[in-house]
Amino acid sequence: MRLNDDVRGDGPVPAALPVERLPVAPPAARRAPAPSEGRSALLDALPASEAALLRGHLTPAAFPAGASVQEPGKPVESCHFVEEGLVAILALTGDGKPVQVGMVGRDGMVGASVALGAALAQSRAVAQTACAVQSLPAARLREVLPDAPVLRGLLLAHVRARLAQSMRFAACSARHGLEQRVARWILDASGRLEDPAIGLTHDFLASLLGVRRASVTCALHVLEGDRAIFARRGQILIRDRDRLRSLACSCPDL
Ligand SMILES: [Zn+2]
Repeated sequence: MRLNDDVRGDGPVPAALPVERLPVAPPAARRAPAPSEGRSALLDALPASEAALLRGHLTPAAFPAGASVQEPGKPVESCHFVEEGLVAILALTGDGKPVQVGMVGRDGMVGASVALGAALAQSRAVAQTACAVQSLPAARLREVLPDAPVLRGLLLAHVRARLAQSMRFAACSARHGLEQRVARWILDASGRLEDPAIGLTHDFLASLLGVRRASVTCALHVLEGDRAIFARRGQILIRDRDRLRSLACSCPDL
C-alpha cells in the first residue's frame, strides 16, 4: 500500500471526523487568517524610528518548497525576514549530505548572522514549505545596525535561539527514535506554521531528518495507525494533537 495515496484504515475521511482541518478545504471554508499571519514578527517588533531605516529597502519575495534560500560558504547578499511558511536550516556532512539543524518561521530571519559580522553563510537554508519573505540587502542591514539597537538586540536574540535550537536538534537526533522524532517534528512545524496541515513529501522530510524515505514512510504509518495524523500525498495533517504529543519524544520544542 502506498501510504501517500490514501488515508489508511477505514477508507476516505468521513465528513464528521474530528481533524483540525481537512486537507483541501475550499477557500470559503478555510479559517480566517490570524491577525499575526503574513507578517514578520521581527519587523512587527521594531519601533517606528527603526522601521523607517528599512523602508524602501525591503522587497517581498517568495520561495517554493524545496528552493534554496542560502548556500553555505557563499557571501550573504540578502537577509530574509520570514512572513509565511518555514525555512529549514541544514548542516552538511563531509560528503555533502544535509541534515536539519534548525527551523525558522515568521519569528525569525535567514541571514541573521550578519548581525554578528558574518560575511559568508555557514549553513544551507531551504524553503521547508512555500515561503513568503521580505528580503533586505545585507549591506543595508550592516549599515543600519549601529543606529538600530532594537533590531540588533532582536537579531542577536534570534541567533542565540538558533544556536540552542541546533543543540536540541543534535541531541534529539542522537537519542530518540525516528517515530518520536517525526512526531516532535510535526508538532513543531505545525506550531510555527500556526496550521495543523503541513505540505511536504516523504522524500523531503527524509532528507531533512537525514534518514531513508522508507524509514519516514514507516514512521508516518505508525503515527497514522495510532490515529494521530493523516499522511496524504505531499501533506501531513494533525488529526489528534494530544495523541501526537503523547507519541513524540520528550524534547522541548525544537
Ligand atoms: Zn527528541
